Amino acid sequence: MDIQITTLSENTANYGYIAEWGLSILVEVDGTKILVDTGLSFSAVYNAQLMGIDLSTIDRMVLSHGHADHTGGLREVLKIKGEVDIIAHPDIWAAKYVQRDQQPLQYCGIPFTRQELESRGARFNLKREPVPITEHVMTTGEIPMSSGYEEIESNLFIKEDDQFKPDPLADDLALVIDTNFGLVVILGCAHRGIINTVHRAQNLYSKELVYAVIGGTHLFRASEERLENTIADLREIGIRRLGVSHCTGFRASARLAQEFEDMFFVNNAGTRVTLP
Ligand SMILES: [Zn+2]
Ligand SMILES: [Zn+2]
Repeated sequence: MDIQITTLSENTANYGYIAEWGLSILVEVDGTKILVDTGLSFSAVYNAQLMGIDLSTIDRMVLSHGHADHTGGLREVLKIKGEVDIIAHPDIWAAKYVQRDQQPLQYCGIPFTRQELESRGARFNLKREPVPITEHVMTTGEIPMSSGYEEIESNLFIKEDDQFKPDPLADDLALVIDTNFGLVVILGCAHRGIINTVHRAQNLYSKELVYAVIGGTHLFRASEERLENTIADLREIGIRRLGVSHCTGFRASARLAQEFEDMFFVNNAGTRVTLP
């Protein structure tokens, strides 16, 4: 069972590709092409073209959550793909806001109306539960906060009835691939925690063995304590590959690189990995 993982958009890029804050990863498995997230604007489409990837051939899309840096490329992708099933959680359509450095709250949700995206071919399959995609692939659905030390950032809000309240990021999900060499977990932002997400993947397939975790780990503002707990848990889980992207941040990336050595890689735009 071969799995090909190609990163189309990320905060940083390999030679020749363009970088943009956000994430978009193409997963090819079981003869199925699944596009996880779309980046912030046009970088995913631009880089896919450079890589010779025809986005009109994707079979399914998954949105890891409703933030703009993962959904802002939807219009450009739909222009190429047209009709496509998009699996996500219903809360992607919540009115999401962020507070950055004492600034007033800024809208950071999907930058299009649902109506526009549907008129371009989006067929939203919105579920709180896991959604099977192929015999060996499914989404996690809602991720329980099981680790006890991973927290959702306090600067993220949703607007409801003209009131701002903390965003629980219930829509945050990941893609899980069940392989004969262990589970492979593809993260969007891991707002609900990388370890919580991996635990969820293990529970879904009743399997302990996790081969790879790839994508945004949301450790960029993690405390020293959380980072060390995360490393200890990843060690205990026994992962073999760790490809970090996006909201991992330099400090956590450096620490993880030091800890996981050859198992670690920076998963940026233009990176192509074949597993195992
Ligand atoms: Zn996010
Ligand atoms: Zn993000």
